[in-house]
Amino acid sequence: MKILVINSGSSSLKFQVIDSKTEKVLAKGVCERIGIDGVFSYKTHKGISIKESVPMQNHKQAVNTILDTLADGEKGVIHDFAEIDVIGHRLVHGGEKFTGSVVITDEVIQAMTECNDLAPLHNPANLVGVDACRELMPDTLMVGVFDTAFNQTMEPKAFLYGLPYQYYEKYKIRRYGFHGISHKYVSLRAAEFMGQNPNRVKTIVCHLGNGASICAVKYGKVIDNSMGFTPLEGLVMGTRCGDVDPGALEFLAKKENLDFQQVMTILNQESGVLGISKNFSSDFRELKDAEIKYNEMAALAREIFAYKVAKYVGSYAAAMNGVDNIVFTAGVGENDSDIRDEICEYLEFLGITIDEVKNREQAEAVKISDWSSKVNVLVIKTNEELEIAREAAAVAAQMGVSEKA
Ligand code: ADP
Repeated sequence: MKILVINSGSSSLKFQVIDSKTEKVLAKGVCERIGIDGVFSYKTHKGISIKESVPMQNHKQAVNTILDTLADGEKGVIHDFAEIDVIGHRLVHGGEKFTGSVVITDEVIQAMTECNDLAPLHNPANLVGVDACRELMPDTLMVGVFDTAFNQTMEPKAFLYGLPYQYYEKYKIRRYGFHGISHKYVSLRAAEFMGQNPNRVKTIVCHLGNGASICAVKYGKVIDNSMGFTPLEGLVMGTRCGDVDPGALEFLAKKENLDFQQVMTILNQESGVLGISKNFSSDFRELKDAEIKYNEMAALAREIFAYKVAKYVGSYAAAMNGVDNIVFTAGVGENDSDIRDEICEYLEFLGITIDEVKNREQAEAVKISDWSSKVNVLVIKTNEELEIAREAAAVAAQMGVSEKA
């Protein structure tokens, strides 16, 4: 089956075409600056690579550009739009309504729209992408894959805040957890790589990118996730603050005479390793380079990040009463061997020992713990698009949709 995977943001739209049988990426790219001017980047498995200005006033024009290029006689990878069997959409917030991937219907769109105020930045932008695809390909099956769905197995003891229960009942204020598509893919890939039954292992996935979260997966089910009601909770991230005492925020607002929106902007965009490093950078590579040149604030930012990751891993090992696999993934987790070393030093009490040669290896999946380690420590490249394609193919199979070409 040919699956078009769409990840629609407010001004960008990423896409991949994946053959679900071979899991090969036939083409991928991104439409950027939608509604501003429009930049289209595109690559195929045959080696074609394009980056050009293409006017895109809206998402419909962006999807049109993608479809035209995919079916182009010279640049394309399909002969006709109709060859696309399913479109898998990445959807950020499904609230409590969606515990798995679903066929996108009018009812699903209505239910998602009701979740918009839970994710006002992401959900409306996702839905604009869905609308554009539905308009242009009305007969193609659309599947929604939610970033929150995998985390929906969390129990009340993990997802409830210590707030009056009525606010959960009235407004569904609770912890949802994010990065679910990545956590699912990586936890399953870890078990596959280790030759384990995923329903028999306890895995902690450290998705460490610009946005970062840790997820405890016990016997195939999420039992905790460091992100909460929004992706702001948990680790110190690129620009997000992670856990902060709300009392400090009231104090800050009074001292600086800020309203709630201004405080939220600080927490989302001016904090994390960027804020700690005195605005030096939110980019972990730049921080590492600066640390080597004795930039104390850059070093402190990285130190705080590693410490916080280790604290979450330790607490999740306790929450699961043990851990078999600890997996690093995403930009920092996959590439920064120094930060992995630093984190794993805190975890020696779990019987973890790292093979320094393996820790510096670059591969799609590698075990970096040594033979004597009591816990497997792995580095696995995340692949959210492949997970979306797999989910979309599975839903299509359930619906009895068969391959067209
Ligand atoms: P997101 O998807 O949340 O935007 P990514 O998973 O792409 O984030 O991760 C981006 C982060 O990964 C950046 O801070 C970047 O500096 C970091 N990163 C990428 N490559 C390396 C590397 N070789 N060493 C250290 N950090 C890296």
